[in-house]
Amino acid sequence: MNAIAPRGRMFFANPGPTNIPDSIQHAIARPSIDFNDAAFFAMYEKCVAGLKRLLKTEQHLFLYTASGHGAWEASMANLFSAGDTLLVIETGHFSESWGKMGRALGLNIETVAADWTRGVDFAALRAALAADTGHRIKGVCAVQNETATGVMLPLPEVRAALDATNHPALFLSDTISSLGCLPFEMDAWGIDCVVGGSQKGLMLPTGMSFTGVSNKALEAHKSSTIPKHYFDWTEMGGRRHKSFVGTVPTSLFYGLEESLRLIEEETLEGVLARHTRLAKAVRAAVRHWAGNGDGVTLFCQNAERASDSVTAILVPEGHDADRVRATARNSFNVSLGAGLNKLAGRVFRIGHLGDLNEPMILGTLASVEMALKLNGVPHRPGGVAAAMESLTA
Ligand SMILES: *Cc1c(COP(=O)(O)O)cnc(C)c1O
Repeated sequence: MNAIAPRGRMFFANPGPTNIPDSIQHAIARPSIDFNDAAFFAMYEKCVAGLKRLLKTEQHLFLYTASGHGAWEASMANLFSAGDTLLVIETGHFSESWGKMGRALGLNIETVAADWTRGVDFAALRAALAADTGHRIKGVCAVQNETATGVMLPLPEVRAALDATNHPALFLSDTISSLGCLPFEMDAWGIDCVVGGSQKGLMLPTGMSFTGVSNKALEAHKSSTIPKHYFDWTEMGGRRHKSFVGTVPTSLFYGLEESLRLIEEETLEGVLARHTRLAKAVRAAVRHWAGNGDGVTLFCQNAERASDSVTAILVPEGHDADRVRATARNSFNVSLGAGLNKLAGRVFRIGHLGDLNEPMILGTLASVEMALKLNGVPHRPGGVAAAMESLTA
């Protein structure tokens, strides 16, 4: 390891937090303002409208000074009562964590089991809903992009399963690592509560999260009895900003205003297409590294559900993914995501969401390939050329 910090910009390829564009950094650096000042309030309302456009909803929005976990907690605490049953679709570490939170709040959490490398079989979800003729299940929780595995969940299929079984459960979705990265349509997909956060596709610092809430969910909220105050939608709805019990994080709103401006300037379609392009290049590199099957491989075994925001890379048995990460960080100033939960040491992750372009991805891939070589991790050399081929195809 170098005694001197490596120079040049750190290439930040984590799946969250993500790179913060300079213009957002500058926006956040503006002086403090009273959150009831007319100038701030106008900007606040503009941000709320912009966020609703991004979520593709005309229903309700509540914002929190909290990381994504706060909005997760708000989603459950506002909609349910102790003993209610929720069905969580297994995706990986994040579906497990959301379920664990539900249990801590007194909910009965049931899971539709799934292979982490492939994602859920929708027939199993339909069967679980069809079997619940007494409508014991009050909510279905789906993580759109499982950040730990790089496998995404097609949310319209969840809606289709609910509709096919005429099941009235509320549909909750986590879009924390997919909003602004993968297509998302709250109203068209019949989502009742969507959870989002600031530090992933929105390119902001950590500390702001939000929930889009449907009219049906707001109605269900009225009979929820899980104790809450800071996250209570009724409490929030009575305030001037219709959110925030406490001081409004004005600096983050300066950042959000700029984030939404950047996304709309590039156009959402352009942003999503860039994510797809860069993700394909990363997967092309990993497929090349896999060689004849003895090298590192894509953790995601279901090509149709490969995530456009993050790729998890599995190292062969007997090798340590964390050593690859340490070499990338210490020798090349490239920061990669770690394996989470049961994937610790087994995978490393390249985040390709947010403020990234081709040379940043190619530089990251080149550094990863060097780190694989230096650690003797099996791979077929030439992954970067495969990525270049993908980007110019
Ligand atoms: C990051 C993440 C979370 C947790 O959000 P925090 O901001 O870290 O609290 C939840 N779900 C998904 C899918 C995530 O990627």
